[in-house]
Amino acid sequence: MRINIHAGHNPDGMVACGAVGLIRESTEARAVKDRVVVQLTAMGHTVHDCTCNNGASQQDVLKRIVEACNAHEVDLDVSIHFNAAANPEPDGKTTGTEVLVYDKTSKSVPWAQQIADSIAALGYRNRGVKERPGLYVLKHTKAPALLVECCFVDDPEDIAIYNADRMAAAIVAGITGQAAETTADAARLASMSQVEFVEYIGRLAAVDMQTSGILASVTAAQSILESGYGKSELALNALNLGGMKAELSGNTWASSWDGRTYIKDTAEQREDGSYYTITAAFRAYQSVAAYLADHSAYLAGARAGDGLRYAGVVGCMDYRRAFEIIKAGAYATSKDYVNNLCNVVDRWNLTRFDGAAQEPDGSLWANIAGLSYTWADASSFGQMLSQSGMQTVLKRVKILE
Ligand SMILES: [Zn+2]
Repeated sequence: MRINIHAGHNPDGMVACGAVGLIRESTEARAVKDRVVVQLTAMGHTVHDCTCNNGASQQDVLKRIVEACNAHEVDLDVSIHFNAAANPEPDGKTTGTEVLVYDKTSKSVPWAQQIADSIAALGYRNRGVKERPGLYVLKHTKAPALLVECCFVDDPEDIAIYNADRMAAAIVAGITGQAAETTADAARLASMSQVEFVEYIGRLAAVDMQTSGILASVTAAQSILESGYGKSELALNALNLGGMKAELSGNTWASSWDGRTYIKDTAEQREDGSYYTITAAFRAYQSVAAYLADHSAYLAGARAGDGLRYAGVVGCMDYRRAFEIIKAGAYATSKDYVNNLCNVVDRWNLTRFDGAAQEPDGSLWANIAGLSYTWADASSFGQMLSQSGMQTVLKRVKILE
């Protein structure tokens, strides 16, 4: 999409600044606007910031904003404001959010409704979509326009739950039609450094290991290498940190994928080392956690003929061996796949995320039959079963006194 966005009013401290209550409208509208710009841009949208920071008067601010907006051919004009004049006494309920449009025939109404619903899902009262034909910005912009009154600057209940990151994620969700969790995860990936991404994905992989039995170092290294530290086109647009395609052979596992896809070109390598390009549909995920769960379920459950495609990967405690199993199952076509992954594990010391498997607190692992084992016993039993085509799920359990 092509989107114009601006924060309403001049900056705080100037003539024609916004409302002031428990928070300041001009400052927070800019904070939310900046985050929306970053998130939408990271998702591949074209965004123009039309904010005016030096208007001579309220009328001048509005005139400059509209001039900036109308200089671009866009699909939507978005104006970010905060409301005022709520009951300032705590009354246990939020005064809430509303989105203003020129009138109910405006093409912006469906977006306005999505934004109001998305912000309300954060806990604000939903005041809905309202007609305001008298508002200068809504009246004079060429493209479909809407004005978001995020919440009330002077309502204690609104401010108690207000957070610029969540507000921005909800607005982006309303503009793009994606879940706020999805846009928040995409924004996180876009903003993280390599070091931050390694910590983030390592911890998520350690949690995933508790249910999948696949080494966290293996999951984390694959995510790091395949997504380029969370910055690949697939990662930012589909939260797909590997190359999980829509159609995967032996697709028999219980999937957390909801069926949405993202289409892109991808390079594949031939046996002789040369490359070719294909266009493929990839899985688009609701969240990074949903990606990891589906990826692990795939490694654990994908079938090749009568057997498991990656037999032995669940419960495997040697990361190089796990990568060899994955490569042998034709997960990737790159000839250097195993070595590249091992280098990533070493470089970032990813085995520290496997610590949960070393029973530091004396916990045991149990298979789905409910029997308890040490990790080593459970994993070798799991490997034995997987060689005969049976899939086991390793679960960590506390020893009861
Ligand atoms: Zn305002």
